[in-house]
Amino acid sequence: MMDTREVIQVVMETAKPDMSCYPFRRKKLYLAIVIPYVTVLAAVFFYLLARKSAPGAGKRYFPGLTFLSFYLGICYFQAYCCACQECPYIGEFCPALAGIYPANTLARMEYGKKGAVKPEEAFKANATAAAFCWGGMVLFPLPWLARRSARLAAAYVLLHAVYYLAHGLILCPVCAIRDTCPGGMLQSMVLKRKG
Ligand code: SF4
Repeated sequence: MMDTREVIQVVMETAKPDMSCYPFRRKKLYLAIVIPYVTVLAAVFFYLLARKSAPGAGKRYFPGLTFLSFYLGICYFQAYCCACQECPYIGEFCPALAGIYPANTLARMEYGKKGAVKPEEAFKANATAAAFCWGGMVLFPLPWLARRSARLAAAYVLLHAVYYLAHGLILCPVCAIRDTCPGGMLQSMVLKRKG
C-alpha cells in the first residue's frame, strides 16, 4: 500500500491541469464568494491589531501581526505549490482558495509563468507548511474573539466552514488543477466526480 508521499508523487506525475477549465469561467461567482470572506479576514486583522497579547500586557500589534504572518505564510508556501501543479492560472485570474491571491503573483515572480519549473520533491513540505499556516489563520484569533464574545468566535469558525463548502461545491469543479490540489481532490471524493 502506498504511503501519503508516494500517493502525492503519483498524482503529481500523472495528473495534468484540465485545460477545458482554462481560462477560469466562474469569475463573478468566485468574487461573490471570496470578497465577503476576505472582508471578514481584514476585519479580524484590524481587530487583533488593536488587542494586546494578553490581558494586562503592554504591547499591542502582536496578535494582528501574527495573524497576518499566517496569511502571508500560506501565500508564500502555496506559490511553490502553484508552480509544482503547473497551474495555468499563474499570472492570470485564478480561483485562489481563501483569498490567497498573492500566491499567484509570487508564483509568477519566483518561478515564472505556466509551471516553468517542476520542483516536485519539495511539494509535500511546502503544502504542509501552507496547511500549518492555514490552521493558524483559522485557530489563532479564537482566544481574542472569544474574550469579546463566544458567539463571535463561533461565527468566525462557521464563516470558514461555509466559505470552504461554497468554494468546494461551486468553484473546485471548474478549476483546472482540481486533480492535484488537495481541496479539489477532497471535493472530487465528496461528489464522486469522475476525473
Ligand atoms: S489557482 Fe491556486 S494553484 Fe493556481 S495560481 Fe491560483 S493559488 Fe496558485
